[in-house]
Amino acid sequence: MSSVTFTDVTKQFGSDVVAVRDLDLEVDDGELLVVVGPSGCGKTTTLRMLAGLEDITSGEVRIGDRVVNGLSAKERDIAMVFQSYALYPHLSVGENLGYPLKLAKMPKRELRERVLSVAGQLQLGELLDRKPRQLSGGQRQRVAMGRAMVREPKVFLMDEPLSNLDAKLRVTMRSEVAELQHNLGTTMFYVTHDQVEAMTMGHRVALMRDGVLQQVAPPAELYRAPANTFVAGFIGSPPMNLVDGRIIDLGEGHLGFSSGSASFVLDAEVLPASERERFEQLVGQPIVIGFRPEHVKLESAGTDGGADASIRLIEMLGSEHLVHLDIAGVELHGAPLPDDESAATSTRILAKLHDDTVDVRQGDNVSVHIAARHIHAFDAESGRRL
Ligand code: ATP
Repeated sequence: MSSVTFTDVTKQFGSDVVAVRDLDLEVDDGELLVVVGPSGCGKTTTLRMLAGLEDITSGEVRIGDRVVNGLSAKERDIAMVFQSYALYPHLSVGENLGYPLKLAKMPKRELRERVLSVAGQLQLGELLDRKPRQLSGGQRQRVAMGRAMVREPKVFLMDEPLSNLDAKLRVTMRSEVAELQHNLGTTMFYVTHDQVEAMTMGHRVALMRDGVLQQVAPPAELYRAPANTFVAGFIGSPPMNLVDGRIIDLGEGHLGFSSGSASFVLDAEVLPASERERFEQLVGQPIVIGFRPEHVKLESAGTDGGADASIRLIEMLGSEHLVHLDIAGVELHGAPLPDDESAATSTRILAKLHDDTVDVRQGDNVSVHIAARHIHAFDAESGRRL
């Protein structure tokens, strides 16, 4: 087990592609850190630099106290699991599991004991004589994990290990992997482009964009206090609504915000004094305002303090409904959105309502209300959280 530290690490390919820029990142001993971000943001390159499969252009990578820049992949004592498990088709499950130990010339008895112990932990004991083609996707994935585990590495590196599985199995496997990591206590560096996977699995989540680390924090903090509009638009399913606007002073101690010709009253009296002061300082300044779909409330059309809207579409999500709203005159912020399915639905304001609070229909006119304590403010130029 070991910590991992990136200090000012940059990776440049050729003269113009900077895949990772000035990366500072520390992974604690025993931590499960998930690196997430849209395609091409530098996740795999970061992992490959840690694995020793890619040279580092500048900066320093340490595993534990040891600088590993100059060490080969073999000398780093890490184990990797990729999207394609690359099991040996002609070897049985047991032989696949034992293969890394055989290469390391471990005595046979010890090898067998180690394989049996790992197979037991992964519930593969009954399958040791089967060939990979006789296994389900999830079982193959477990063999790949087991093959990494038998070596008892200092660090596990996982690059989208679940992306070949169907949606249901992914959900089961992600909790299995997280539980396994917890039981083993081995540091894990896990790469995915799926923010739900990142948020559910990671002790902390590092979000990258265009080679630059945007924020690294526990999932709850990323959700509650995104560092910028990119993080706000990436984390959360569906992502945060972002509009261009400004905080307005409505007199007699009331605050609101406007976006284009739409305006909202904020129930500012419920805000802690420090938050209220923060909003007061922002009055009049052009900013980006964010609010999550789960924090939007719908009331009857014309209710005081809300913005007029019509309901474009209602999507059933099970216990929740996703309501697509056209708010008259509102200016949506053109924030970059993740390249996943949710982006397609994020061109208008979204509200997520619990089943028991939905008494609206497509085409209805409603009044949209947002609670002041759920408002996020970002700088209009830099996108940084204010
Ligand atoms: P994905 O989720 O699609 O795998 P990623 O976040 O893992 O993406 P990387 O594979 O790290 O992204 O790539 C980061 C950037 O570096 C991309 O612009 C990519 O085109 C570029 N890149 C990666 N490998 C090379 C290479 N060997 N030569 C040149 N450019 C590369």
